[in-house]
Amino acid sequence: ETRAALASWTGPGRTADGTPVKLLANVADGDSARSSADAPVEGVGLFRTELCFLNRKEEPSVEEQAGIYAEVLGAFGKDRYVVVRTLDAGSDKPVAFATHEGEENPALGVRGLRLSFGNPALLERQLDAIAAAAEQTGTEAWVMAPMVATVAEAADFSKGVRSRGLKPGVMVEVPSAALLAHRMLEVVDFLSIGTNDLTQYTMAADRMATDLAHLTDPWQPAVLQLIAITAEAGRRAGKPVGVCGEAAADPLLACALVGMGITSLSMAAAAVRPVGARLATVSMETCEDAAEAALAASDPRAAREAVLALLDS
Ligand code: PEP
Ligand code: MG
Repeated sequence: ETRAALASWTGPGRTADGTPVKLLANVADGDSARSSADAPVEGVGLFRTELCFLNRKEEPSVEEQAGIYAEVLGAFGKDRYVVVRTLDAGSDKPVAFATHEGEENPALGVRGLRLSFGNPALLERQLDAIAAAAEQTGTEAWVMAPMVATVAEAADFSKGVRSRGLKPGVMVEVPSAALLAHRMLEVVDFLSIGTNDLTQYTMAADRMATDLAHLTDPWQPAVLQLIAITAEAGRRAGKPVGVCGEAAADPLLACALVGMGITSLSMAAAAVRPVGARLATVSMETCEDAAEAALAASDPRAAREAVLALLDS
């Protein structure tokens, strides 16, 4: 039955009873954008801009950056949208012209939006380039910052994005941002939960450490709780809250996330069909039951089993 559903599913994302869930692609550059544009997605939920610059010693000019961003935006045309993430340099993604050297704890150091504290012009130039690319292509651009920890950071970032006529948002990757999601949403138009980092920082376990994989599991009850808090804040504010970490690509977890109130799921294009096909077989009420069961479980395995039992019944 699942195989038949997978074969016949063509999108767009929705539950069996018709609640829309935006399914979006994670992309890294023009090439991955062009290939992802063929998938049944409503746009891009995470354009990791730092991946365009991993081999660059010098910061590209605003014009060159605009050209690179326009390739991604242009691949999705005028009736889909692209969520551009500003540079998430540092820690596991070193970028020569931005990353701070010699930090003892790079994951807890000057990475992501924090780079702009000492170098605001770097972010200003990137926002100029994104605005130019949006203008040039006519594609709707939403812009979000990684590694946001305080409402003041979100407010500052939001001002810079809005002043360029773009739609501001922030990533929820730090537990402080999840706990204050309702206040973040007073200053931005959307939130996007990066479950890879949110899990790392909630569990205090390096996302790259394979021997800690039992901790860096988005089914951990504490992580699910923070996602639920964030989704509920979005529901109350009437603003979109997406998930763009690996968790979004897990068809079972995706159903529970939708039940919590998550409005979009962004993933590698290859994962879209399995997630979309599974969602299409489940009612919103079952998604809500799955969310409740996952949140009540005492560990990741119990959570997964409880959700599977509900979805297959
Ligand atoms: C995340 O942290 O979940 C995320 C989507 O960002 P990245 O994996 O690029 O850190
Ligand atoms: Mg991240």
